[in-house]
Amino acid sequence: MESSRMVVIGGGAAGMVCAIAAARSGAKVLLLEKMERPGRKILITGKGRCNITNTKPWAEFSSHINPNKKFLKHSFHAFSNTDTIAFFESLGLQCKVERGDRVFPVSGKSSSVVDVLVKEMDRLKVIQNYNTSVSGFLFNGSAISGVITSKGVFDCAAVVVATGGLSYPATGSQGDGYRMAREAGHSITPLFPSLTALMPAGYNGDAKGLTLKNIALDLFVGNDHVQHETGDIDFTNNGIEGPLGFRVSRKAVKAMENGNRCFLSIDLKPAVGHKELQERVKREIIDFRGNSLFRFLSGYMPSQIIKSFLSDNNYPLLIPDGEKREDFANKLCNALKSWKIEIVSYTSYERAVVTAGGVCLDEVFPKTMKSRLCDNLFFAGEVLDLDGDTGGYNLQIAFSTGYKAGVEAAHLTKKWISGE
Ligand SMILES: Cc1cc2nc3c(=O)[nH]c(=O)nc-3n(C[C@H](O)[C@H](O)[C@H](O)COP(=O)(O)OP(=O)(O)OC[C@H]3O[C@@H](n4cnc5c(N)ncnc54)[C@H](O)[C@@H]3O)c2cc1C
Repeated sequence: MESSRMVVIGGGAAGMVCAIAAARSGAKVLLLEKMERPGRKILITGKGRCNITNTKPWAEFSSHINPNKKFLKHSFHAFSNTDTIAFFESLGLQCKVERGDRVFPVSGKSSSVVDVLVKEMDRLKVIQNYNTSVSGFLFNGSAISGVITSKGVFDCAAVVVATGGLSYPATGSQGDGYRMAREAGHSITPLFPSLTALMPAGYNGDAKGLTLKNIALDLFVGNDHVQHETGDIDFTNNGIEGPLGFRVSRKAVKAMENGNRCFLSIDLKPAVGHKELQERVKREIIDFRGNSLFRFLSGYMPSQIIKSFLSDNNYPLLIPDGEKREDFANKLCNALKSWKIEIVSYTSYERAVVTAGGVCLDEVFPKTMKSRLCDNLFFAGEVLDLDGDTGGYNLQIAFSTGYKAGVEAAHLTKKWISGE
């Protein structure tokens, strides 16, 4: 048994960068990973291509961080998005910037991200114990003296919990870190899935595979307007996903968890003003040959969603005759500009990209990632109550907090050894 080492729990994005930063700072590092190999979640990121980070400057980057961007500021500046790119390029992983300032490895393979991290840990002689699940701690006063695992107890001078959240549990992220944090006296803010599919009322999957491009989306909780976004949504078996769907999912899921009703309002023609659209609909409906509303609407939206559009708006299938047509056209135009859909459920952790909520940020020093309650305990990554939008923000949270926790835990370990 050695007490001169620091222990990192979890070989994900945060844990591996943490172990590397600590070893580079001169600490002896033991990384414990419950799965048979590290970085299982990294492998599935960015649809297998791994969106490593986002190059937006902090002012813009931080607007994609929830619920407390200020907490991330220190660690982001210690290991920023540009540091992330330089770090990976120094390990031999060339990076490229794509649409939306998103950064990917040139290899196009997330496995190459895991490979360079493991290679660097090997080079720095980080001891990596896989198939080793941590179940709890031994305490000596207000410090952790040992880490209890499926392979026995390991002494430690400092511990970093980087066990991720609850999403995609098959990757090893099963919420164990929340239990460890509670054991050390920490509180966990309410957990809920984020960046996840939203299920509209009455949806039967018939629009699966459809993308609606350049639409405007508004989220209402009860009667309150809470979010406005523009861009694309995807329809899948699970409902509404894609960049916009994911972006509004955080507030929508939280509201539903709190027992509130949620509605999306879709503007199918955001580039056309209300008046202009009204004139176009009126003109075209008057000239329209036949009275099938379904056929008329196929000039305005993809056929897969017309049935839902009609039933959500209580429309008859036939266009009325004569003067009633003009009135009808006005109503139709309103519905095209604000098609209201009730969201009745959402996809849970099995397919949510991140877990929102986590270790309460008030109980962690933002400058060091050290616990305010336990002398030698640190946190990094998704286990914290920090999450971001899609676009490389979540991995950057893991890298920045992992780096900071690694450097600071290494300093503490060295102090511990020298008896300061
Ligand atoms: C499908 C999908 C796609 C994504 N794509 C992107 C993307 O392109 N860009 C982006 O920025 N973000 C993306 N994310 C989010 C991002 O992957 C995570 O936020 C990030 O990986 C979190 O890193 P982490 O190290 O904190 O946790 P994790 O990556 O979850 O790692 C935690 C590790 O701890 C281990 N562990 C857990 N409990 C124990 C225990 N008791 N003992 C020992 N080990 C334990 C786990 O096995 C795991 O290896 C995606 C997520 C998903 C699910």
